[in-house]
Amino acid sequence: MLENDQLAQWDRENFFHPSTPLGQFARGELNNRIVTGGKGVYIEDREGNKLLDAFAGLYCVNIGYGRQEIAEAIAAQAKELAYYHSYVGHGTEANITLAKMILDRAPDHMSKVYFGQSGSDANETNIKLVWYYNNVLGRPEKKKIISRWRGYHGSGLMTGSLTGLETFHNQFDLPLPYVVHTDAPYYFRRDNLGQSEAEFVKQCADNLDALIQKEGPDTIAAFIGEPVLGTGGIVPPPAGYWEAIQAVLNKYDILLIVDEVITGFGRLGSMFGSDHYGLKPDIMTIAKGLTSAYAPLSGSIVADRVWKVLEDGTDKYGAIGHGWTYSAHPIGAAAGVANLKLIDELKLVDNAKDTGAYFVQGLKDAVGDLPIVGDVRGEGIMAAVEFVKDKDSRTFFDPTDKIGYAVVGALLERHKVIGRAMPQGDILGFAPPLCMTKEEADTVIAATKDAIETVIAKL
Ligand code: PLP
Repeated sequence: MLENDQLAQWDRENFFHPSTPLGQFARGELNNRIVTGGKGVYIEDREGNKLLDAFAGLYCVNIGYGRQEIAEAIAAQAKELAYYHSYVGHGTEANITLAKMILDRAPDHMSKVYFGQSGSDANETNIKLVWYYNNVLGRPEKKKIISRWRGYHGSGLMTGSLTGLETFHNQFDLPLPYVVHTDAPYYFRRDNLGQSEAEFVKQCADNLDALIQKEGPDTIAAFIGEPVLGTGGIVPPPAGYWEAIQAVLNKYDILLIVDEVITGFGRLGSMFGSDHYGLKPDIMTIAKGLTSAYAPLSGSIVADRVWKVLEDGTDKYGAIGHGWTYSAHPIGAAAGVANLKLIDELKLVDNAKDTGAYFVQGLKDAVGDLPIVGDVRGEGIMAAVEFVKDKDSRTFFDPTDKIGYAVVGALLERHKVIGRAMPQGDILGFAPPLCMTKEEADTVIAATKDAIETVIAKL
């Protein structure tokens, strides 16, 4: 390994990092961290720090770091056949097996998997499939997609448009036409504090209905949503939300794309968020937990009713004109097969449920009464603590106070625990590997309490 200084310098001189304040990083005003290894919920860096990663990378290393079984499956695949494409009926044992394993786990009415590389490209695929679907059905005007403010669906041109977060739009001239945003199911941030959860849910559904009416039901093709808002703030929906939304979509023959990139394969303590909330998707997006990020792979799972139209379309117009060189990459697929097997063997979906419930309750008990904590919430093994300046009036801090970042900084510096300052609002997010133990959860809870108290002491 190179000397610290040299690698750190090359990093600043050559590497364009995503989601990074570029000038600050290039000038050396922002630390870099060179990560060297990981095991279970821990990662290690070159300075010898051992950090408890309570965000599983980017909510993706669900199985935990350092699983040799997956590394070996990847190596075996690379030695046998590192690559062949999947166009015009070509496949490998790994990607064919993985497609079957996914469908065995997905809701019964799902039919086929289209593989990509990332959550973003899978959602691009989904929008193209929806447009193709309506063209084949002779409804060329039915093309707009509704997504939610604070939804996150990727950072491509279309998917960045679907994403309902300002930093993904500003200075990029997004959102593109064809994308319409509706309410986030974010009860804690409701405008009217006196509103009950049921009233809020009704308002979300009524506003969606009104938006569809305004745009014209014949112009709306699909609605896309994450079962639990992720990057928008880790916000589980209020009770009855999905039922109310699905009723509106069914009324206007609007397809439902359920973005399970975070929730797929166990994060909510159920195999999919769709099972968890009784959703009936027409298309499901999967990525992250599919391989636990041991190799890049994503998928679009299409339901019977969509598949039928796709078949009719290609009978009429020829082969579907959509493909990536790396669709169904055999190395990603081998990682996926080994990962899904391990999730079953280690009973990680059950652990996400049990340890997740323990973790969320523990956080509530430990920090819920602290003066700047406005909300502690979670579902499965995913949680958030939201900070406010004044609890009674639910007054938020000024964004320039950067309270969320301060807490995340204290957590890291004082306890070597990684949480995430969510991008919009003062929100501390957690999404640890599904294998986290109760003892490790206790460590994160105690560290969080101390980090928040440290920030309070400086206010
Ligand atoms: N959809 C959701 C719900 C996500 O959380 C993400 C990434 O965080 C994406 C899509 C985009 O996935 P990727 O970053 O792999 O393109």
